Amino acid sequence: MTEPDPTLRPEPRPEDADRALRPQLLSDFIGQAEARANLRVFIESAKQRGEAMDHALFHGPPGLGKTTLAQIMARELGVNFRMTSGPVLAKAGDLAAILTNLERNDVLFIDEIHRLNPVVEEVLYPALEDFELDLVIGEGPAARTVRIELQPFTLVGATTRLGLLTTPLRDRFGIPTRLQFYSVEELHQIVTKNAIKLGAPADDEGAREIAKRARGTPRIAGRLLRRVLDFAVVEGDGKITRELADNALTRLGVDHLGLDGADRRYMQLMADHYGGGPVGIETLAAALSESRDALEEVIEPYLLQQGLIQRTPRGRMLGQKAWRHLGLEAPRPPEKGAGQSELFDG
Ligand code: ADP
Repeated sequence: MTEPDPTLRPEPRPEDADRALRPQLLSDFIGQAEARANLRVFIESAKQRGEAMDHALFHGPPGLGKTTLAQIMARELGVNFRMTSGPVLAKAGDLAAILTNLERNDVLFIDEIHRLNPVVEEVLYPALEDFELDLVIGEGPAARTVRIELQPFTLVGATTRLGLLTTPLRDRFGIPTRLQFYSVEELHQIVTKNAIKLGAPADDEGAREIAKRARGTPRIAGRLLRRVLDFAVVEGDGKITRELADNALTRLGVDHLGLDGADRRYMQLMADHYGGGPVGIETLAAALSESRDALEEVIEPYLLQQGLIQRTPRGRMLGQKAWRHLGLEAPRPPEKGAGQSELFDG
């Protein structure tokens, strides 16, 4: 099986560490209008009261701007930004070290917060509620608990899997926010801005072609822009036009819906071997040699949003649009008597 091209995956890559492309202020941030409008109010209110903003939880697929929004919050609040992630905080002491070093009203960002060790999570609760830490010092009969006062702070948690968060943790966030896939129009604006920042001349149609094929995700849009720019420099005259973008993206294996090889393999498997489903997620994961998590976090959200697949209690089903996209005829539903078969038409 061929590995999916990492350019097309929404997880972060080392080469993404390009600060130049990250929007710095809420007013530079395109899309997520509802989340942005609410955050503006909460930030302003916290600033006027001189208090730490309430804890916020961002959830949604990778690459939609969770980290970026958290950094913007800190900047707009005029406080420090500290960043860590769930799997990195192995022991209670790791979290304690970070918390005791925070200054008043700082923003602490914990990525992949659904992967926090339960022991660490226990320590986090009183820190979130009362800005206090209860630490156990020593072992056995000599062990004692010490209480440490913390500076007020704002925790921003990010997760791709809201369902995996424990209820007590989820309940401690005053501001839960779901990030949505971006529209082509929004991505068009983002690509246009990024092209200017990279000094890449992209005409309107060229930028739109990249936006249309970026899987609703700004991180992918940024990456595709760079790859298309490579083609423009080496094989064109440096300008990103629609034709050049179309050729480059096709050569990168990104189709007109923005789907890549892994997406198409997923759909093709369902069509070829399971008659379009329903088929269980574990079966699909095994057949594709992908982890169930990767399918649920990375591949499926966009296919679901596009109506290419559906989730049913009995498993995944291929939608009509997917059959058309694969250039295949959808199988006719089995006859179950005249009245019932009409349910499946259309
Ligand atoms: P997440 O934390 O959700 O995985 P990030 O915040 O790291 O996503 O964003 C991924 C990339 O996409 C970053 O390079 C960021 O600059 C860019 N990006 C995200 N949202 C936007 C936006 N609204 N406008 C412009 N660029 C964005």
